[in-house]
Amino acid sequence: MKVYNTLTKNKEELIPLDNKTIRMYSCGPTVYSYAHIGNMKAFLFMDFLKRSLNYLGYKVKSVMNITDVGHLVSDSDEGEDKMLKTAKNSNMTPWDIASIYTDAFLNDIGKLNIHRPNVLCKASEHINEMLDMVNRLYDDGYAYETSDGIYFDISKFPDYGKLSNLDLEGQIAGARVAINTEKKHPADFAIWKKAPKEHIMQWESRWGMGYPGWHIECSAMSRKYLGDQFDLHTGGVDHIPIHHENEIAQSNAYIKKQAVKCWMHCEFLQVDNGKMSKSIGTAYLVSDLEKKGFEPLAFRYMCLNAHYSKKLNFTWEGIEAAQKSLNRLSNLVAAHKDSDAEADSDLIETYKNEFRNALEDDLNIPLAMGTVWNAARSSVKSFRIYQLLMDFDKVLGLNLDIKRNEAEEEIPEEISLLAQQRLQARKNKDWKKSDELRDTIKSLGYFINDTPSGQIIKKG
Ligand code: AMP
Ligand code: ZN
Repeated sequence: MKVYNTLTKNKEELIPLDNKTIRMYSCGPTVYSYAHIGNMKAFLFMDFLKRSLNYLGYKVKSVMNITDVGHLVSDSDEGEDKMLKTAKNSNMTPWDIASIYTDAFLNDIGKLNIHRPNVLCKASEHINEMLDMVNRLYDDGYAYETSDGIYFDISKFPDYGKLSNLDLEGQIAGARVAINTEKKHPADFAIWKKAPKEHIMQWESRWGMGYPGWHIECSAMSRKYLGDQFDLHTGGVDHIPIHHENEIAQSNAYIKKQAVKCWMHCEFLQVDNGKMSKSIGTAYLVSDLEKKGFEPLAFRYMCLNAHYSKKLNFTWEGIEAAQKSLNRLSNLVAAHKDSDAEADSDLIETYKNEFRNALEDDLNIPLAMGTVWNAARSSVKSFRIYQLLMDFDKVLGLNLDIKRNEAEEEIPEEISLLAQQRLQARKNKDWKKSDELRDTIKSLGYFINDTPSGQIIKKG
């Protein structure tokens, strides 16, 4: 398999460093809130990658962290700890918050058929490993002390900025990183923070009580479970310029070698062509999809149809179309299952090769989906094609074997009429009438979703 390496900016052949197993690490969620479907795109990417590697015959060991301490409101060591902020606002301890949102996260990834990584590790349970790194980086002269913590000195690491082509010279203090007058360079970053008394999560260190910087967590846990040097590291593109740049600096400085061979990043999910945003209510959750009558796997289907390195635009019409396609695909699979006709062996071989070749070329799953559809639509229905499609489903994870209702929903005349009247009421800004009509429609067993490009009527 060849994949695009953000570090070298080249497509490279993946050959396990130990000639046996691909060792991969993925940045996990910060469990201070529910993970939205944008986050899920990043975790789906990790899952597609691991399943594809397995499909292509690689052995894989995967690790993902759960960040339950140290991730500050700003990625650049400023502001409160996200966990503590939520805890304060809800009158719970950070440990309670972590436990609630970790469970919710595991539940969501289960619904999306994302396999759990081989190791899922919590930051708060690896403080010793982090302190071991902090201590050595400090002793080796890579870090210095300020009044509020221990900072990595990027001037000691000449490769700093290589991953993101960072223009360090041109970087003005206060532009990317808020001004901290004690820092030697604006891009120097905290590997350990000194804890004020009221800080709930704190541990003993040689500099007194404190807590880890967010970036050191991933360096320490990846090293613990995958060794000094490993093959692959994944995350979202937002992590390239700070988090991953910092991970590289710490890990490489600690072992005085290159820790990670290949970095892979997935592009962002947008909503209605804009940034997902909690404040305007577009940071949708998996449960929001379910509330509107969609399967979480319809979102998985949607993500399979865009290359990981491309932005994906979420709309309610888009998820509706994805659900319909998924239903149709499952029904085609069922038709093959129930047939005893013979399939052409050469054709099956061709489909298999096409599917493999697409995965081998930087995880081109959208191209592989073309083959899936061609095989599913082939005029000869055959049990062997059913077996082939179920084999592809080991990568797709769409549960193609389950029965899905393909029938187009017939919207009765009466409901369509009421919906038209509601549309007119909304045009007239008669919100009262519009709400009344919505209630009437609801009482007749249908509900309406308003989307930027119109209303969607569904039964349920
Ligand atoms: P966080 O919990 O904020 O650390 O984010 C978890 C993962 O989701 C990271 O890999 C982020 O890069 C990724 N992520 C955050 N927002 C989006 C988005 N809108 N689309 C895709 N990935 C995202
Ligand atoms: Zn990370």
